[in-house]
Amino acid sequence: MTEPQNQNDALHRRGLMFILSSPSGAGKTTIARKLLTVEPELGLSVSATTRPMRPGEVDGRDYHFISPDAFDRMVEAGEFYEWARVFGNAYGTPKGQIRNGLKAGQDFLFDIDWQGTQQLHQKAEADVVRVFILPPSLDELRRRLEGRGTDSEDVIAARMARAQAEISHWDAYDYVVVNDDVDTCFEKVRQILAAERMRRKRQTGLIDFVRELTRG
Ligand code: ADP
Ligand code: 5GP
Repeated sequence: MTEPQNQNDALHRRGLMFILSSPSGAGKTTIARKLLTVEPELGLSVSATTRPMRPGEVDGRDYHFISPDAFDRMVEAGEFYEWARVFGNAYGTPKGQIRNGLKAGQDFLFDIDWQGTQQLHQKAEADVVRVFILPPSLDELRRRLEGRGTDSEDVIAARMARAQAEISHWDAYDYVVVNDDVDTCFEKVRQILAAERMRRKRQTGLIDFVRELTRG
């Protein structure tokens, strides 16, 4: 009888928290969307935010768009893993289903900045994988922000000014990938996810499996 090739994938494993960060405009949303379409076991952790919706965004898919009052109530009720203020708006990661999902083997993708990454890492170090996406150059970063066509000149200037500060946090990540060609970057990020899923500590079904293999 032929053994299934990826037999270990059938063993129970704990899910992981896969964090993608980048300076705004470097491409983390693009990479995140591609990953979500090809990785059925990966769910998006949808953040709550008080910022206005951009054209093309969908409430509940891109963010939960909520009022500042509703955001403050969630903070007081302890309903966020972490939260931060960025460009005058508040952003937070609701605990929601994440805790149970991880136990059941579901992975979650987080599209959050370095502050949120630091907080999540402090709270759930063993489950967290941190990936930082860099632009190939600052000129290209500006071209992407302008090409996206979603922000005013002032907002683009603020994002460019902030980019240097964000890039300076590169060494707080487990992996750093330069997003030059989008498909190449995507494949690298996908390989990181595949390898991290196979970490021994996440494969909670291994103990019984190996016991069976070594019996007798
Ligand atoms: P972020 O989520 O990091 O703010 P986005 O994913 O929204 O960035 O990307 C910013 C803009 O750059 C978008 O218009 C996107 O289509 C474009 N983009 C992303 N990756 C690349 C790439 N490798 N080459 C060229 N354009 C890209
Ligand atoms: P944008 O307004 O462009 O969608 O996001 C602005 C910044 O907020 C990005 O750097 C993004 O990563 C960050 N962000 C989005 N959601 C969260 C969150 O839940 N927590 C934190 N700390 N940052 C977030």
